[in-house]
Amino acid sequence: MNYEAIYHRSQLNWAYAYDKQTLHIRLRSKKNDLTEVTLHSGDKYGWDHTNASTPMKKLASDQLFDYWQGEIQPQYKRTVYYFELHDGTETIFLLEKGFVEQQPDRIYEGLFDFPYLNPIDVMTPPEWVKDAVFYQIFPERFANGDPSNDPEGVLPWGGVPTPTNFFGGDLQGVIDHLDYLSELGINAIYFTPVFEATTNHKYDTRDYFKVDPHFGTNETLKQLVDACHDRGIRVLLDAVFNHSGKTFEPFVDLLANGPDSPYKDWFHIRQWPLEVKDGIPTYETFAFEPIMPKLNTENQAVKEYLLNVAKFWIDEIGIDGWRLDVANEVDHQFWREFRTTVKSANPEAYILGEIMHDSMPWLQGDQFDAVMNYPFTNALLNFFAHGKINTDEFASAIQAQISSYPLQITEASFNLMGSHDTTRLLTLCNGNKERLKLAYLFELTFYGVPCIYYGDEIGMDGGHDPLNRKCMEWDPNKQDLELLAFFQNSIKLRKQYDALRTGELRFIPQDNKQLLVYERWNEVDSFIIIINNSEEPTHCSVAVEQEQWIDIVNDQTLTATSKEVHIEIAAYNYRIIKSLP
Ligand code: CA
Repeated sequence: MNYEAIYHRSQLNWAYAYDKQTLHIRLRSKKNDLTEVTLHSGDKYGWDHTNASTPMKKLASDQLFDYWQGEIQPQYKRTVYYFELHDGTETIFLLEKGFVEQQPDRIYEGLFDFPYLNPIDVMTPPEWVKDAVFYQIFPERFANGDPSNDPEGVLPWGGVPTPTNFFGGDLQGVIDHLDYLSELGINAIYFTPVFEATTNHKYDTRDYFKVDPHFGTNETLKQLVDACHDRGIRVLLDAVFNHSGKTFEPFVDLLANGPDSPYKDWFHIRQWPLEVKDGIPTYETFAFEPIMPKLNTENQAVKEYLLNVAKFWIDEIGIDGWRLDVANEVDHQFWREFRTTVKSANPEAYILGEIMHDSMPWLQGDQFDAVMNYPFTNALLNFFAHGKINTDEFASAIQAQISSYPLQITEASFNLMGSHDTTRLLTLCNGNKERLKLAYLFELTFYGVPCIYYGDEIGMDGGHDPLNRKCMEWDPNKQDLELLAFFQNSIKLRKQYDALRTGELRFIPQDNKQLLVYERWNEVDSFIIIINNSEEPTHCSVAVEQEQWIDIVNDQTLTATSKEVHIEIAAYNYRIIKSLP
């Protein structure tokens, strides 16, 4: 047995409350080393009448490790525990104080401890997000529904985007196309910023309490949110609280009055006067961007101002949550107060942080409900778009992610295939839309909250920004309607079957390293999804218990012979089969 690889601690993703009754306890071991792991647990004040043994299941495996998980519901909400480990020949026990060869008899000494399951401490993302399919809209480029509010010098719809040009997109344009979004099947929209700002992307806020006049008015936003709610579509806005714009009134005052300004503590000044020296501003900013001065969120007045903003749009307009820009550069204490404010205004609000890396410190129940899951995006891009990794490496990357977060975080993660900040997926796939479909199919049959970047569903391409921010194509003759039908159908399947959203997941390794096969199941349904990520048609046989299966995409039935179902699969294609009762 490889002792060095064995790891547990009674915190974070290793021991957590999944809900108000249930604890998940995880243990790591060297890949393919242990054959059996048992969790022994009981109440620390009454071990004798509460103790139980729970076999742990293999939750995931990555390149180096297996991750085991046991689920328990301690009767009195407290538990102490230890592990019994087998590798086929050897048996050993792991306690907090270390490995011991004999089963512990003095159970109160040196065991792991989960002191008490306090309901308020349970990380609980809003229930609705598990069933959400998001659509991301960059408002300047989605649709121009009101030419009367167009910026000066607006260009004809469909031109080449530059960092500074405008095409007149607005909120009325979104209202006008809600039928399209309902037919696509999405039930939530994430808008990049809509507040008054000078740029086309609006990440340089001038006024946090006012919709940009080029997009409409606060009243237009209210109409949009109400119309969305009537259709069961939720709305998330972008909170740019790391920095303001250069035209934000307090910063304008600071520029005018220098150290005498009442707002001097609202920002981080390195040196007076405020200027840019050799490309570096003398005040802190987002990156080195002079038009985006970083806000001092430790300052009480700034904090009150921004928390009022967060509350205002929930109370006045009824939005369903916030996406937080550059969330990892703002202090944790601010986000804790932000959460309290937002959840008291709307307990069901979804708080989504923009963080591109491991995000556990923000996801412990006191700050965010989820983050934008870029590690997921990167694994999918490397496999489906770039062809840089094979099936085993892909499955390994996905399972490493599953094991690194509590399950409820995986279930609420915002999974995206691209955004206004990244090259469009179709471009990364060298224009091969079949590959794009496979990536989105995986996203739509995985845990979490899938998001579609506007226009991906009709075949829009585009390089890094600003080229990924083209005007939405509304001419049906120029839309890829076959692709659109794929999205409509895949979203429909996801909504129809719980197992595709929240069911258990298991990868089934294949000899063909371009063939991805995985199961998703719950008490009701059982699915096998087969994805051929290569230019060669292929086939595979999958061991199954059930005899009758149906391909839910083309309604073909399949019969297993000798407990194996045999599947033919075309180049860059997929099958989703479901067992029949
Ligand atoms: Ca307009």
